[in-house]
Amino acid sequence: MSEIHPALAQGNVAVVTGGANGIGLAAARRFLGFGMKVCIVDADAGQLAQVLPELGPDAIGKVVDVSDRRAVEALACEVEGQLGPVSVLMNNAGTGGGGDALTSPEGWQRVLGVNLFGVVNGTQAFGPAMAARDAPGLIVNTGSKQGITSPPGDTAYNVSKAGVRAFTEGLAHTLRNREGCRVTAHLLIPGFTYTGMMKKWLPEKPAGAWDPEQVADAMIAGLARGDFYLWCLDNETTRKKDEKRVLWGAMDITENRPALSRWDPAWKDAFERFMGG
Ligand code: NAD
Repeated sequence: MSEIHPALAQGNVAVVTGGANGIGLAAARRFLGFGMKVCIVDADAGQLAQVLPELGPDAIGKVVDVSDRRAVEALACEVEGQLGPVSVLMNNAGTGGGGDALTSPEGWQRVLGVNLFGVVNGTQAFGPAMAARDAPGLIVNTGSKQGITSPPGDTAYNVSKAGVRAFTEGLAHTLRNREGCRVTAHLLIPGFTYTGMMKKWLPEKPAGAWDPEQVADAMIAGLARGDFYLWCLDNETTRKKDEKRVLWGAMDITENRPALSRWDPAWKDAFERFMGG
């Protein structure tokens, strides 16, 4: 058993959605490093087939769209049958480009389907059996700073990740109040990370971005501290700066300021003073 979290133990089973690329793949490699058996779940069959051989004999792959509830329920049965009971679930599959508040109904369906309902589906397909077992378990859901500070642009993405945050907070509360339950839930909050998503638009890694391996390391370090919020940095922000941005957003409510005042020209100077002060 590792000292990081009791579920991260040799021979235990981990499931990672969106595991064929980026942050999920880096996390899957960490889990394999603990001697675990890992099921990589991804909708991209080609990418999955490409990475699977290099992960070794303890990794299996399943092509599943996490927004498809029935397919995720079938996946839970298959994984348990093939590898045994699941100890670690990482609901990480994600996508972007949903659209702003007035456009793209298809984009909203797709982004909420994958980012939010993918997390709900995964948790509800695997979670009850994990919680019922008298064994340690770990659920990590991948959120985003965008689900907390809501920068303008891809509002659908922000809504999906705000939903993942609220869902995972509720999940943590439910699990810790369940008699005898040994499963903990955590919210992974990556910063700017150079992954598959981004490689499509940016052929070279921007200096400000972290590698997915750094996010996986931050996740493991946060779990070792027992953190619920597995907060990650990148090369262009600091923990202090992030904390101030989160506080400013919360203070829009407590100070009765306009929505998203950080991006309102009338509040620009006040925000800059707050950040610098
Ligand atoms: P990525 O594109 O490298 O990996 C995402 C993976 O999810 C891909 O392999 C993709 O095929 C898979 N996927 C997409 N839709 C799916 C579906 N319907 N069913 C199953 N798999 C699906 O991107 P990433 O940056 O590693 O993203 C991982 C998570 O991290 C996402 O939830 C993303 O929103 C989140 N995140 C990323 C960043 C960043 O800067 N890269 C920042 C904050 C949060």
